[in-house]
Amino acid sequence: YRAKADRCGTHLYADDLDEHSRDRLRLVDELRTGIAQGQLVLHYQPKIALGSGRLTGVEALVRWQHPVRGLLGPDAFLPLVQDAGLSADLSAQVLRVALRDCAAWRAAGWDATVAVNLSTSELLDLALPQEVAHALAEVGLSGSALVVEITEGVFMVDKATSVAVLTALRDQGVRVSVDDYGTGYSSLAYLRELPLDELKLDRSFTQNLDADARTAAIVESTIALSHSLGLAMVAEGVENDAVLDRLRTAGCDLAQGYHVSRPLPVDALRAWFATLDADRAWHAPQAGAEV
Ligand code: C2E
Ligand code: MG
Ligand code: MG
Ligand code: MG
Repeated sequence: YRAKADRCGTHLYADDLDEHSRDRLRLVDELRTGIAQGQLVLHYQPKIALGSGRLTGVEALVRWQHPVRGLLGPDAFLPLVQDAGLSADLSAQVLRVALRDCAAWRAAGWDATVAVNLSTSELLDLALPQEVAHALAEVGLSGSALVVEITEGVFMVDKATSVAVLTALRDQGVRVSVDDYGTGYSSLAYLRELPLDELKLDRSFTQNLDADARTAAIVESTIALSHSLGLAMVAEGVENDAVLDRLRTAGCDLAQGYHVSRPLPVDALRAWFATLDADRAWHAPQAGAEV
């Protein structure tokens, strides 16, 4: 520490910056080869219907199995992907693997949709619907097996293009979900104009549902709003039974969260499927039961 403190401040700063950008460059490089070598893996988190408990689908969440640093979450490397211009490579791979896995569990009798997250740049790419059609055909799935999760910000960037892309996807039967709903540039005008199927309430609302009366009021009105627009309402980030109950009572359609299941590697997902009852319904573990 003393040695550092003795050094000139500017010099120290430049040094740190250098090290930081060297590290970053190395990581970008590793990411480029990592994507090419198939080091990206998908974990899947189940989504259930609140009324019946039935499994409806799973969301694909990307991870990077780094040879030295271990399993990295999207927050650790998605910003790099964007900057390094690797978005298209990543999304093509995510889409292909997600649809391949979905086709496999459908063939095994697990009739679940798969949802993929799309970044803004993907959603503004007019070639996307054609790529999706191709990827679906490759594994013999119809568009109704796929859900795309988008964020509201994309409509601010380029409404005409995003609407064109989403419309072309929906023409194939693909469903469109607005992720992290309520945190972005939520505007009622968008809800009126855009081709959507589902609103996915951000987990900051879900998680304060229990504690805060204002949050509860917002959640209840959002559920009512989505229903009057013919949209399904999904709650993300459900971490306990109390919240699940409240959402069910409030008429929320679908739920996702650690309480139902953490995101799982594909093998563990199959094991989770096998815990469902004959109606493919999930049941909360009994209080006090062994885990
Ligand atoms: P998201 O799409 O909103 O995904 C939900 C995030 O919340 C996931 O984090 C998930 O692991 C986490 N989560 C799920 N249930 C709970 C819960 O009960 N409690 C808490 N505290 N967290 C929960 P993850 O996997 O780190 O993903 C972060 C974000 O990265 C995603 O947010 C999504 O925006 C982005 N992302 C993930 N995969 C992809 C991808 O393939 N492509 C793109 N473009 N973005 C992706
Ligand atoms: Mg999502
Ligand atoms: Mg979300
Ligand atoms: Mg999120």
